[in-house]
Amino acid sequence: MSALLQIKDLSRVFTAGDETVKALDGIDLSIEAGEMVAIVGASGSGKSTLMNVLGCLDQPSSGSYTVAGRETAGLMPDELAQLRREHFGFIFQRYHLMGDMSAAGNVETPAVYAGVGSHERRSRAAELLSRLGLGDRIHHRPSQLSGGQQQRVSIARALMNGGEIILADEPTGALDSKSGETVMAILKELHADGHTIIMVTHDMGVAEHADRIIEIKDGHIVADRRQSHASPSAPARLLHQSETVGVWQSLQRRIAEAFPMALRAMAAHRTRTALTMLGIVIGIAAVVAVVGIGEGSQRRVLQQISELGASTISIYPGKDWGDENADAIISLVPADMTALASQPYVDSVTPEVSTSGRVRIDNISANATIVGVGKDYFRVNAKRLAQGRAFDAEAVSASRQQVVLDANAARTLFPDRQDPIGQVIMVAGVPVTVIGVEAPSRASGSGMQVYLPYTSVQVRMLGARQLQGITVRVADSVNTAAAERNIINLLTLRHGLKDFFIFNSDQMRKTIQSTSRTMALLISSVAVIALIVGGIGVMNIMLVSVSERTKEIGLRMAVGARQVDIMLQFLIEAVTVCVAGAVVGVGLALLVGATFGQPDGEFPMIFSASSIALASVTALLIGLSFGFLPARRAAQLDPVDALSRE
Ligand code: ADP
Ligand code: MG
Repeated sequence: MSALLQIKDLSRVFTAGDETVKALDGIDLSIEAGEMVAIVGASGSGKSTLMNVLGCLDQPSSGSYTVAGRETAGLMPDELAQLRREHFGFIFQRYHLMGDMSAAGNVETPAVYAGVGSHERRSRAAELLSRLGLGDRIHHRPSQLSGGQQQRVSIARALMNGGEIILADEPTGALDSKSGETVMAILKELHADGHTIIMVTHDMGVAEHADRIIEIKDGHIVADRRQSHASPSAPARLLHQSETVGVWQSLQRRIAEAFPMALRAMAAHRTRTALTMLGIVIGIAAVVAVVGIGEGSQRRVLQQISELGASTISIYPGKDWGDENADAIISLVPADMTALASQPYVDSVTPEVSTSGRVRIDNISANATIVGVGKDYFRVNAKRLAQGRAFDAEAVSASRQQVVLDANAARTLFPDRQDPIGQVIMVAGVPVTVIGVEAPSRASGSGMQVYLPYTSVQVRMLGARQLQGITVRVADSVNTAAAERNIINLLTLRHGLKDFFIFNSDQMRKTIQSTSRTMALLISSVAVIALIVGGIGVMNIMLVSVSERTKEIGLRMAVGARQVDIMLQFLIEAVTVCVAGAVVGVGLALLVGATFGQPDGEFPMIFSASSIALASVTALLIGLSFGFLPARRAAQLDPVDALSRE
């Protein structure tokens, strides 16, 4: 039967720059179960290197090392972690306890990675601490314990998963002699219980407690002697047989443990966590606010489009807007309108002439745009009347002196809200009777408009017979572009040449839509940039956090954490920071919205559940993606390196 630990012709070579150091050189060693071994030697002789190899924290450069018959050379990091969890317990010179956890929390850690349930962990940690005389210190932090007490906590931790083989590097090196004696007494007791104890010391007095002393010098074993009282104890009577749990259950338990771990780490660096979160808060608040503004303005655009009414096509004299010769063109006449009205693709038609002049009633007088229209003007332009009625065909053909006021005009001329219908007002010196009032609309600015039959405006105010424009409302089922082509053909035929141009309300619609799309794109790119900046902040802080907690990572690896456990811990931390930031950010955005963003005001903001959900998912993804690099860096640390980092 082979020994518990078997080393054959083992070397460990370090390369630092061009130099290579042979820390261990052709070592042969076998250690039986139940032995208590002391490794002694001068500083720099290779003791720690040997311990690291024995504890599967480090791997030999050449040669063979078997643990309970299993070859360790060539194992992957997670397989080494499994060997550490199952066979070894570590005791360090400087205890290596985690400062933000209670004594019990520290002792429990190895069992977390072994997938032991929390209830069992807790009772076992309490039992071990009581057995080591710390029953009344279970909830104390390491900083509240003396050095000797801390070392006893670390012994309890080494025993948590069974501690079949206990590796102690200078366990008494940092202790006063009395505490040192207590620790040695405990180790001897454990030895008597069947644990295999291997310790490194430079103190011969301490070494004398062991029943086998191995002396090492410049990477070679120079002496290996057994004390007279040497007698391997009975095989380890393990205190603890870890129940076997499924891979999934184990992972679940470890994730459940990683969450409070992340919260503890965040709580330990409150200011830093808050500052990191601030980036995400601002980013998410920007996204939610911006999406809110986007939706608000989108709704406004839709409103504007619906106010444009059905598709209309307007015909004006000249080549385009601003054609200097437009006034001289007299071909656009009422007969064109009649011809258009009889086309099947036309719903309704109105002519337009306009001028300006003063409107007056009693002693109130103001400038207004005077618009001459046909009887279907309000239908063509999808305008509604708040009061009264529009002109009828008879009023148009007989040039009646009737007027429809827009909301501004009604408000100006009848400030006391008396009923305007039936009142006589003066428009450009012509007395006219008010027959209707237009409903207010968002599109109307601050100017006043009054509508008269176009014949009245032509005859009584302009003295001209041509029209300044004709607007056609296209029948609902008809394609606007096709209608436009037909209108051009018809009028060109009638006029003998194309002395008019066409403006199609679909163009307006398209312009509004493309403007709002451009805005949305602009706004979302700003939000995306804000989030990326926030994410980079998270990555930055997580990298700082990893390098600051390198020692803790090394310790977690020593007690058996897999790479995925370390990765999870940091990823969960990054995600928690981001999601917490998102919650605050959403709150902030809602607050801003409630303060400034009246849906009808200058700055419309509409918040939807989907935009908030989107923000939360985004935060989660930022945490995962920007936390990934730091988490992977942590997971890939070398345990020996990490442990030796100050
Ligand atoms: P001891 O614990 O007996 O004081 P170590 O095992 O720590 O000695 O070191 C043995 C030799 O290996 C020393 O010369 C040391 O400088 C070298 N050494 C240890 N670790 C490293 C490393 N990571 N890189 C380079 N050299 C190392
Ligand atoms: Mg050392």
